[in-house]
Amino acid sequence: MHRIRFFRYYARERFGTRVKKIPVALPFTCPNIDGSKGRGGCIYCYRGSRPAHLEPSKNVRKQIEEGILHAKERYGKKTKFFVYFQSYTNTYGKLSYLKEVYNTVLEFEEVVGLDVGTRPDCVPEEVLELLSSYRNLGLEVWVEFGLQSANFETLKRINRQHGVSDLVDAVLRSKAKKLLVCVHTIVGLPGEGRDDFIETAKLIASLPVDGIKIHPIYVMKHTGLAKLYLSGAFRTLSFEEYVNYAADMLEIIPENVVVHRLTAEAERDKLLSPDYCVYERKLEVIKAIEETLKRRGTRQGAKNPFVKRAVRDLVKGVEIPRSL
Ligand code: SF4
Repeated sequence: MHRIRFFRYYARERFGTRVKKIPVALPFTCPNIDGSKGRGGCIYCYRGSRPAHLEPSKNVRKQIEEGILHAKERYGKKTKFFVYFQSYTNTYGKLSYLKEVYNTVLEFEEVVGLDVGTRPDCVPEEVLELLSSYRNLGLEVWVEFGLQSANFETLKRINRQHGVSDLVDAVLRSKAKKLLVCVHTIVGLPGEGRDDFIETAKLIASLPVDGIKIHPIYVMKHTGLAKLYLSGAFRTLSFEEYVNYAADMLEIIPENVVVHRLTAEAERDKLLSPDYCVYERKLEVIKAIEETLKRRGTRQGAKNPFVKRAVRDLVKGVEIPRSL
């Protein structure tokens, strides 16, 4: 039996074949950068999390085509795809523009889903309505919200420019539109300790959330966090610390929640710390977390403190992926 409900298990069960995410980058910005909510962005923000190989000026159709071609060569012709709008805030634009770019995915028959990364304070009703409309066209639609921490003092410290309440509001409104919701969390933010990570996991466990991303904080050159790190005022987590905290959080996260990510893959030459946040060590981190759960004799959801599905069942129209 799997101890962690990874996205790949969920997707194979749901679509009957291997499913990969094709990341794309659009010329979006972020309300926390352009001044409408804040300037400078979150202290750890590096290029809005855009993967190095993506170029926002390149036509999105071309990006999808190339992503599919590359993935099919590697994973086989039967592979299906989600198009993942990843970098910056992918709901922050005119509705007509959002519609135009999201519509592009409909041109690819191998694409079974749409995955849109954004901030919890950036999803007006009309955008959620638009995203939900793709369900009627046969796509599965996930919306990914960056929360990072359930501690409001931390959110202020890292200059997120939104609150915990924005996340609760965004999750409930998204569920009312029958969207699948994934929440991003970061372990090891400045000023935080185990109690904070546990509380973040508990908040997610208490909400009708379908997916989670957990990753360790990492420091990229030329960011606000880099200054703190280089001054000695902040340190990153050791490999062992992160593995244990991630396992602690997973024990709280309900077993039906889909785990989309458990570590970070930073560009090696731009990364200051920690050294395990690179593509080459990704599997090592994941394996260590699985081994930790095995050694403890636990699994995802083993310590979920809440009555299972209590809040979920209160939200009308909730669509919950089946348990393992
Ligand atoms: S919300 Fe995302 S894109 Fe915006 S500043 Fe923060 S990390 Fe960067």
